[in-house]
Amino acid sequence: MSKFWSPEVRELTPYVPGEQPRERLIKLNTNENPYPPAPGVEAALRDFPADHLRRYPDPESRALREALAEALGVAAENVFVGNGSDEVLALAFQAFFRQSRPLEMPAITYSFYPVYCRLYGVERRALPLAADWTVDLDAFSAEAGGAIFANPNAPTGHGHGRVAIAALLERLSEAVVLVDEAYVDFGGESAVPLVERFPNLLVTGTFSKSRSLAGLRLGYAVGSRELIEGLERVKDSFNSYPVDSLASALAIASLADDAHFAACRERVITTRERTRASLERLGFEVLPSQANFLLARHPDQDAAQLFVGLRERGILVRHFNTEALRDHLRISIGTDDEMTSLVEALELLCQAPA
Ligand code: PMP
Repeated sequence: MSKFWSPEVRELTPYVPGEQPRERLIKLNTNENPYPPAPGVEAALRDFPADHLRRYPDPESRALREALAEALGVAAENVFVGNGSDEVLALAFQAFFRQSRPLEMPAITYSFYPVYCRLYGVERRALPLAADWTVDLDAFSAEAGGAIFANPNAPTGHGHGRVAIAALLERLSEAVVLVDEAYVDFGGESAVPLVERFPNLLVTGTFSKSRSLAGLRLGYAVGSRELIEGLERVKDSFNSYPVDSLASALAIASLADDAHFAACRERVITTRERTRASLERLGFEVLPSQANFLLARHPDQDAAQLFVGLRERGILVRHFNTEALRDHLRISIGTDDEMTSLVEALELLCQAPA
């Protein structure tokens, strides 16, 4: 504890991300994509003129916003870009959620949201999930100071469709509703087409998962002009340029290759369902997932011990040490071979005498 820290920082419990190992492990702990980015990204990296780095990037990221807008079926003025969706989320908390009434979110969702609440002095109201572990949209109050959830949710994997999201937006017309679509490309239904109808909807997305570009740090938001301007106001106050020129060029190259994007996505979905079946054969209970991970628990096994046993066998998964999730493992979907190794290791661990 330092006397120099401001009160928010003294209270802050920093988010602990999944481990980034130095050794060669089978890494199924941070929901990265097991396949490389589109080949055009590598070509764009090779061809990028180093001399361009002499200049500051376009402060409006026009080329990237236009390419994204085309891919998402909206206008460029409805798109905002940032360094990873985490940065976009941080700006959204500052722009919209510092209200007199609490920000509402599911009790189990992306664990970064509570960190932002503490950092930006936002009061939080946690809503229990429904009995089947889906996000209970009816639990959000029309008086909320704002609403945020991941859709599909993390780490549970369930996603609501557009009709249900539209009903929520209608009911919470006085508040900003942020729908975090980090995982939507693995079988979810995007709320982006609702942006035209609902000025209170902000959808965030990322290049980290379905576009295999977590190392690039590129995220975005889609919303009404009113909300995008809110984000721009916060960003401009930092006098920072949203996205560097190299990241912009590589992201544009990724957006140009629909076939690669679709093929990787399909492979992840197929492997996910095959892995689910294998885990269920071993006695695991696995939540339905529209994301690139599975949340699983074994009724007769200690999840913390399974985590350690897998780690010893060179396989990293995620174990959250919270009351609600202590019995579960979250397993990111890797290649078919990686998932076969995981299932074989779990089979041995589940057979071993306790
Ligand atoms: N939202 C959710 C639900 C996530 O799981 C993640 C990644 N951990 C992010 C946002 C942030 O992704 P990024 O900053 O890489 O875009």
